[in-house]
Amino acid sequence: MNAKAVQFLKQYFGYEMFRKGQNDIVEKVLEGKHTLGIMPTGGGKSICYQVPALIYTGITIVVSPLISLMKDQVDGLNQLGITSTYINSSLSISELNERLDNMRNGEYKLIYVAPERLEDERFFRLLNEMPISLVAIDEAHCLSQWGHDFRPSYLKISSLIRRLQTNPVVLALTATATPQVREDICRHLHIEDENTIVNGARRENLSLQVVKGQDKLSYVLQYLKKHQASSGIIYASTRKVVDQLYEKLTEKGIAVGRYHAGLTDQERAKYQNDFIRDNITVMVATNAFGMGIDKSNVRFVLHYNLPRNIEAYYQEAGRAGRDGEESECVLLFAPDDIRIQKFLIEQSDIEETRRTNEYKKLQQMVDYCHTESCLQQYIGQYFADDEFEKCNKCTNCLDDGETTDVTREAQMVFSTIKRMREKFGKTIVAQVLVGSESKKVKDFKLDQLSTYGLLKTWTGKNVSQFIDYLTAEQFLKPSEGNFPTLRLTEKAVAVLKGELQVYRKEKVQHVTIEENNEIFESLRKLRKEIADQEKVPPYLIFSDKTLREMSRTIPASTEELLVVNGVGRQKLEKYGAKFLDALVPFQDQKGETPIIKTKKTSSKVPSHLVTYEMYEQGITVNEMAEKRECTRETILSHLEKCYDEGKEVDLRQFVNERHEQLIEEVIASIGAERLKPIKENLPDEVTYFEIRYVINKRIGQI
Ligand code: ADP
Repeated sequence: MNAKAVQFLKQYFGYEMFRKGQNDIVEKVLEGKHTLGIMPTGGGKSICYQVPALIYTGITIVVSPLISLMKDQVDGLNQLGITSTYINSSLSISELNERLDNMRNGEYKLIYVAPERLEDERFFRLLNEMPISLVAIDEAHCLSQWGHDFRPSYLKISSLIRRLQTNPVVLALTATATPQVREDICRHLHIEDENTIVNGARRENLSLQVVKGQDKLSYVLQYLKKHQASSGIIYASTRKVVDQLYEKLTEKGIAVGRYHAGLTDQERAKYQNDFIRDNITVMVATNAFGMGIDKSNVRFVLHYNLPRNIEAYYQEAGRAGRDGEESECVLLFAPDDIRIQKFLIEQSDIEETRRTNEYKKLQQMVDYCHTESCLQQYIGQYFADDEFEKCNKCTNCLDDGETTDVTREAQMVFSTIKRMREKFGKTIVAQVLVGSESKKVKDFKLDQLSTYGLLKTWTGKNVSQFIDYLTAEQFLKPSEGNFPTLRLTEKAVAVLKGELQVYRKEKVQHVTIEENNEIFESLRKLRKEIADQEKVPPYLIFSDKTLREMSRTIPASTEELLVVNGVGRQKLEKYGAKFLDALVPFQDQKGETPIIKTKKTSSKVPSHLVTYEMYEQGITVNEMAEKRECTRETILSHLEKCYDEGKEVDLRQFVNERHEQLIEEVIASIGAERLKPIKENLPDEVTYFEIRYVINKRIGQI
């Protein structure tokens, strides 16, 4: 790697080394090659052009779609002592003229511009008189109409660049690009295939969660209560939902802001500023919010509604944890949201082929909510990025297969719906099942159905949630319209016939991100004071990650402070003394074990693998059950899972030969469709594990 690049990285930005993708991209750019860099949000795309900008003798132009992003970036660079500016429609005439004069005088190393600005002939002529070495195109996916954020003005960029007489190097950057979008970008910008650096979309610090069948508002309230000290964004699909949620959360005394296209510019700017400056902790917003927000300490992103596709989802969710700290992305799924998205697709003014494509993408988004495999891997496959390993911290990975068989309850629901001739909605089906005496139930004589009151030990809400779950799992299909009635799908019919079983996973334990630490809090307070004085967002002073490292290492001198990731010369000079002063009272804690406890689920090994480790050490099933404080049956189910995943396990040794014979006999007389009747026809000591083993052997899976 170019020694100067490494030196500048430390000197200006305070970072010891380039991250993997940055390294490759910076190298290509410095070799003068047009390059496409794909890096996840928070991966550090800016460095990829900021460091070369310092090395190249000429100027770097950064084309970026959003005004707020430019301001943040430019403020940040000027803080680091790198002269830069932005030119966009937010400037007054006199500001613009001043900046153009400075440009002529060669005062800037980096100039951020909106794509439309390049089309302004006068501005372009001025640019063309200047020594431009590099053009960086941020959010390059806007160039493709197969992307999720197509902007026609982006299409003109390539011909404009070609008119520049200095023949600058072009660097296109994006976080989210499917293979189709990548191809488009390369074709337009004449980037060779070999100069595409894909650094994966994987975000190791994000734990992805899908929550289904829950009352969304209570979920959000509970969630916020648990994460009071953290900053987060809640995305909703319409202005109306944003407003309602904003009102509800404000009523509960939560410091919340809102953002959508229906607010005035001043309102939006105020809320955004409050959020960035940590005056409020939660922002409720439509997807209008965020593309230009560079706030690094967003600890969670909740999606109150289903986004329209995976690219949009991953980009929005990816606004959590830009600083690399553990963060959560929770998608609250409700089947109704699919209808809203379909409606929006139907209403949009796009060509038919794009519309079909949008439907396909929506279906992939819905599948994300239904998949039982690793959510990170699902996203990896979507972006054709096979570097994704199982994340071990998403909803599905954490659910170590301990599912409950709810076939019988599902059959009750389905046969009730069938008996009600598929003419009623969720609420009344639930009322029938719990045996409600409501007027409607009586009027329609539904209390005379044989399934009336079959789930009378449940609450109506639980049954409704169960129906939501069955709908999400596509056993039920609500009709279109405002009062959807429930219909059975083929899957439900198979369940009624006993051909298919229904399992429901247990609720997921959520990761708690603990941020309350005395040292961290006091540094955070100091950062906020400085930020308020300088009228910049706190994270531009130092990121959460940097403060955390300071509170862990408790530096006592400028040398020690300089070692902290994110502390460069410039910031050391400006803020070093203040932070060292703030750390003085804590010096006696130095060297103690770290006080910050961020529970990292990444270290949580799935339960069945813990069992497997013990199995490999030759520990018996009974001993394992005792050690792990669970039943023998659970241990065996873990080993079964390991076997299914391709690990070497000799399941045969746990099956009693006489039991095997008995099971074969029962299956011969009553069939193997359902486990429960088989079990009931056998002596108690025959286990479910043994029954499953025999069945799997019969169908050749063992
Ligand atoms: P992106 O634009 O890809 O979303 P940013 O350029 O905003 O990401 O960078 C994300 C975070 O990572 C920022 O806080 C940035 O300062 C930090 N960062 C970037 N490169 C490095 C590096 N080499 N070492 C440590 N931190 C880095």
